[in-house]
Amino acid sequence: MDAHGRLIDYLRISVTDRCDERCLYCMPEGYRGWERRPDPLSREEILRVVRVAAELGFRKFRLTGGEPLVRRDVPELVRAMKALPGVRRVGLSTNGTRLAALARPLREAGLGTVNISLDALSPEGYRRITGGRVERVLEGIAAAVEAGFERVKLNTVLLAGVNEEEIWPLIRFAARHDLPLRLIELMPVSPAEQLDDTNFLSAAAVMERLRRREALIPVSDARLGYGPAKYYRLAETGALVGFIGAMTNHHFCDTCNRVRLTADGKVRPCLGNHGELDLRAMLRAGAKDADVAAVLREALAQKPPRHEFCGAYAPARPMTAIGG
Ligand code: SAM
Repeated sequence: MDAHGRLIDYLRISVTDRCDERCLYCMPEGYRGWERRPDPLSREEILRVVRVAAELGFRKFRLTGGEPLVRRDVPELVRAMKALPGVRRVGLSTNGTRLAALARPLREAGLGTVNISLDALSPEGYRRITGGRVERVLEGIAAAVEAGFERVKLNTVLLAGVNEEEIWPLIRFAARHDLPLRLIELMPVSPAEQLDDTNFLSAAAVMERLRRREALIPVSDARLGYGPAKYYRLAETGALVGFIGAMTNHHFCDTCNRVRLTADGKVRPCLGNHGELDLRAMLRAGAKDADVAAVLREALAQKPPRHEFCGAYAPARPMTAIGG
């Protein structure tokens, strides 16, 4: 439990800060804010943190980045994580570009759930936002469905003036493939100059637009994993749509259940707060398991009651370095 009575049993692990796409709101083209020399935690170091975290009571783990699948050892990492006592579920957040080849090996390694980013369906819209090719991602989604994961979800960041026209096609796509779609409010987590406040589109505004088309039926018991989305079933399309109102929902942090491990080995109690605790230096200076456990406990003690996104929060490092 953290100091605010929340059960924290979910660790999101960024395995790399590198990515093979250049999303407008995350790590736009020309981004130069890398660590000078990439020095992510090794597989052994990650496994050590996971083992100690599981001993403390963490049960759910998610690999993210950057784009986790640019790192080659993810299937081995998943397999080794799943073999650790206490590790109940390992999930992955990915842009899907490499899933066509990797979905099956990941499933065989024991990966349970996959969240795939999809901000547009049209090739031009997708290219404009990410710099990449939507066809590769659609192949990746098909491969993930085929591989038989416990759950595959789609994630779309809401961008006023950028992908508003894509939302309805995305909902129909999600319904057709029976995949939950989560619509995420843009958070100020990246030094992206391509976007500003005028690009913010609230979850409430989108709900209102959808309601004009068809009824939204609240699905209160479907937590569908461990995320913060509120889900609705669209009465006619049948789509299951989750809204992640990080910026506008005042109760957003009340059910927070997670801390993060950054690619460079910092434990981050809250995405929307600058506080971090350095594990990498400790791990490399011969720390004992008890020292690693103490840092994780301290992260829980330092976890703030809510994020600071709505104040004058400016990210010290981009989402890609922290792990989305
Ligand atoms: N590359 C992987 C992916 O695409 O899912 C994992 C990392 S990515 C940072 C994780 C999620 O964070 C993606 O769904 C992405 O769209 C979202 N994200 C990145 N920057 C964001 C921002 N400024 N506001 C809201 N969501 C953001």
